[in-house]
Amino acid sequence: MLLILGGTAEARELAAALHERGLAVTTSLAGRVSNPRLPPGRVRMGGFGGPSGLAAWLRQHRVDAVIDATHPFAARISSSAAAACAATAVPLLRLERPPWRERPGDRWTRVADLQQAAALLQARAAALRRTPTATQVRAMTGTPAAGEARAAGGSAGGGGRRPGIRAKERLRVLLTTGRQGLAAFATLEECWLLVRCVEPPTPPLPPHHQLLLDRGPFTLAGELALLDRHRIELLVAKESGGEMTQAKLDAARARGLEVILVQRPPRPPVEAVATVDRALAWALAAAGRNP
Ligand code: NAP
Repeated sequence: MLLILGGTAEARELAAALHERGLAVTTSLAGRVSNPRLPPGRVRMGGFGGPSGLAAWLRQHRVDAVIDATHPFAARISSSAAAACAATAVPLLRLERPPWRERPGDRWTRVADLQQAAALLQARAAALRRTPTATQVRAMTGTPAAGEARAAGGSAGGGGRRPGIRAKERLRVLLTTGRQGLAAFATLEECWLLVRCVEPPTPPLPPHHQLLLDRGPFTLAGELALLDRHRIELLVAKESGGEMTQAKLDAARARGLEVILVQRPPRPPVEAVATVDRALAWALAAAGRNP
């Protein structure tokens, strides 16, 4: 039996191709999304319980080979797969879509993680509005900024009470980094964020935001309309790659907007391919079939 670690369009495509050829294939999903797009073939849901749990699962189900087709930012399951497959001598292939390529007219700034993205947003907002950052306000007045007061148990609410930042002065940002890790933006008084994700995020959330629950694929026309409707000035995205969510980058380029691009986390050094076709050929060979 072949096990696909899924959660991506590529994983679904691969499962469909293998299933079509009559191979026994099981796709594993983390079970985070309430109505996931299900691939053909068998599907199992939920974590395995770390590398040892996955290794036990591979043995118990007599898995012939594993294809890790998870999202480029799902780092824990990939390292779990590397460890479990090494421990059980089950062949492992990583299917990972290539990163996006910068094109003429793009204004990309790459950062290592969401914390760096938040810090850069704060700096951009301060520079654009010529308003002081939270740290500067504290230094000037000796009083906490609005976000800090709330964090310390002060009154909750829409904010905007900090001297120097009115609602219309906030940098308007489209944030597409997903519902995980939004705590990195939780004290960002200087920005208004349009937070787009598939499922509702859990707090803490940015103090000034609007939630947009939506799932790709997105079109260029749709992304342009979204940027214009919300008067977006800057985009923050993960370096996910792939066609389904690329339109936002094309739209940002068309509008001359800066994009803060969060880089992919490191991956374990395993054999890897970039296309479903190559993963299919590998999986067929692993199952003893001719392509
Ligand atoms: P993660 O941090 O690597 O995984 C956290 C834990 O969730 C893993 O340790 C594992 O639990 C479980 N898990 C993750 N993927 C699994 C799978 N395919 N099957 C069974 N268990 C899985 O991953 P994540 O960033 O939370 O993403 C979760 C899933 O969503 C992934 O499958 C990924 O392909 C998909 N996804 C992620 C993103 C993103 O931006 N991160 C975007 C689109 C889709 P145990 O340790 O208990 O085995």
